[in-house]
Parts: sequence; C-alpha cells; structure tokens
Amino acid sequence: MRIIKMYKKFLEPFLECLGQFGRLYAPVRKNGVLTYGPIESISEAVFSDEHPLIPIKKLFHPMKFDMFRFGESGFQPDYSMVEKRVIIGVHPCEIHSLLRLDDVFMADPPDPYYSQLRHNSAILGFSCMPTENSLCTSTGTDIVEEGYDLFFIDLDQFYLVWVGSSLGHDMILCHDEFFEDEVTHEDIAKYVAWREKRNLAFKKSFAFRNMPDLMELSYNSEIWEQFGKKCLSCGQCSMVCPTCNCYDTTDVLDVSNKVSGRRERMWDSCMFVDYSLVAGGHNFRATRADRLKLWYTHKLKTFGKEYGRPSCVGCGRCVDTCPVDINVLTVSQALSAREVPK
Ligand code: SF4
Ligand code: SF4
Repeated sequence: MRIIKMYKKFLEPFLECLGQFGRLYAPVRKNGVLTYGPIESISEAVFSDEHPLIPIKKLFHPMKFDMFRFGESGFQPDYSMVEKRVIIGVHPCEIHSLLRLDDVFMADPPDPYYSQLRHNSAILGFSCMPTENSLCTSTGTDIVEEGYDLFFIDLDQFYLVWVGSSLGHDMILCHDEFFEDEVTHEDIAKYVAWREKRNLAFKKSFAFRNMPDLMELSYNSEIWEQFGKKCLSCGQCSMVCPTCNCYDTTDVLDVSNKVSGRRERMWDSCMFVDYSLVAGGHNFRATRADRLKLWYTHKLKTFGKEYGRPSCVGCGRCVDTCPVDINVLTVSQALSAREVPK
C-alpha cells in the first residue's frame, strides 16, 4: 500500500490524462438527477457528497442488455457493451457494494458479463461527508481498504491518495510530477481531524450488528404484516439498493424468423408479485409481508451467513426512496421496539 499527496490544482489535469486507460465515467447531472455516465471532459463530472440516484451496479449489472443472439446454428454471446473504463468519483459504500456483487457474480462459475465489465474497469474512489440518511458508520462501510485502484481523500488544499493496485500505480506514472511521496506529520494530523469531523457528522444510525439475530427471532413477528399493509410492491427499494442483483431473462424472437432472436436480461425485484410465481400458478411469496420479510432477511442476515458479510452497505438510498417509509432504519427500529408499531 502506497499513500501519496497531491495538491488540488493538479486534480483536473491528472484525471484528464486517465483517458488513455479507458473511457472516463463519473457522476453527472442529467435533468437534475445525479447519475453515473460517460464523460468527454472532467468538467462534466460532479464530485459531491450526494450519491447518484441509481447506484454503480448499473455499470456492471446493466438494467437491460442483450446476452446473446440465437438461431438454428447455436448462439453468439454479445459483449459489445464491454469497453475499457475508468470510473471516477466512487464513494466508499459504492466500492463496498461492488465487493458484495463480486461475491455473487464472480463466484465459480463467474457471470461472464459482470466479470468482463469488472475486469475492464478501473475504480477511482473519492471520500465523501455523510448526507442526511447516510448509515455507513453503522454498517462499517465508511472506509475502504480494498476494491479501488486509487482512492482520494479530500483534505481541503490537497488529497491524500491511496494507491490500491498496480493499475493505480501505472496511472500515477502518467503524471508522476503531480504527486509527493512525503506525507508530513501535519498532513497526518489533518487526516485524523477529517476522520473525527466525519464521524461526528453522521445524523442517523441503526443496530446493524444486532440485525441477524433480530431477523431470526422475528421471523413470525406481526411487524411484517404491519409493513406489508403499507408496502406498494413498487420495487423501488431493489432498484436503488446497490447490492440487489436479481434479474430476469426473456427470449425475443425475430419477426421474420421464428427460430432466431436474442435473449434479453433485465433487472427484477423480489418485491414484485410475480417474482415467486412458479409453473402451475403457485406463488410461494404471494403477500407483500412475505416479500418484505424475504428482502430484509436476505439483506441483513442470510447474505452474511453465505458470504461472510451482510449485503447492506448503509448507503441510505432505501431511506431516501421508499414512498411509504419502509427502509433499514424503520425496519430495525420496529424490530427493536418494545411494542409492535401500529
Ligand atoms: S418497501 Fe417501499 S420501495 Fe420497497 S416495494 Fe414496498 S413501497 Fe416500494
Ligand atoms: S438496504 Fe438500504 S441502506 Fe442498505 S445498501 Fe440497500 S439501499 Fe442502501
């Protein structure tokens, strides 16, 4: 691990030169909404504490794409979306979310689309201060130790830059003169003060470590019925959650030829009523209460049991987004309350 220092005036020229490593992507503002997208110039990038509405998963597990074309002679995978990319301005919880998606999509056998997109993308992390609903201190995802090529911590006049991979090291060489190896005691003191200021800036938290046990104990709790009465089954929680990764596939036949076509893959959500509908018409999670229980059990307990770390990364998007206020905060509060909330 190498930590170096760069004065802020060098940020823009340094990032511009990274175009030689791949197409640049960053948070950009489109119709007033912050979203990840390709940029032609660094001036288009929006570096802010706000998270893009749709998380970084959309660049690795696209909302909708063609997996392959098929016909009488077999099938031909479509990897046309894969390109060399440098994704700039990624917050710590987003990097953690990619590590969770790696657990799912890179396990043996790896998902070829996700893994090709992942292997061809560099990640440049940027520090952030908490926003209204940030919960990443609760989930232990406010700091990253892996999963990036470079990580920039903003200390006002300068950045401390963590070099996390050999690719990150090569990127530094593109403008070696912008970086200083000497980090002074005063610089370290600024970093420590930044960590303390950041820790104090969080407004919300939840008992994340208690959640696996609470989920187990509350499997038959009536709180699921209470939340189920309010839930709209809209699936927004799954769309904005950076670790939700369910998808569906559909074969679309060519109009002119009934044996050839393409297979589409698109995001799905276990909150949708037909998600658990099986052949014969049985739906084994027909009620909204059952679907909510599945979502939260998987997010806060089962994923952790299977992969060693729960899949909530504390981004707060479910808190920002659910139209009827069902989210990790309200669910954990209800599970911990003395009485069943009405
Ligand atoms: S919990 Fe909220 S966001 Fe999720 S499906 Fe229900 S109403 Fe929609
Ligand atoms: S459950 Fe909510 S806070 Fe946790 S990662 Fe998903 S959207 Fe973010």
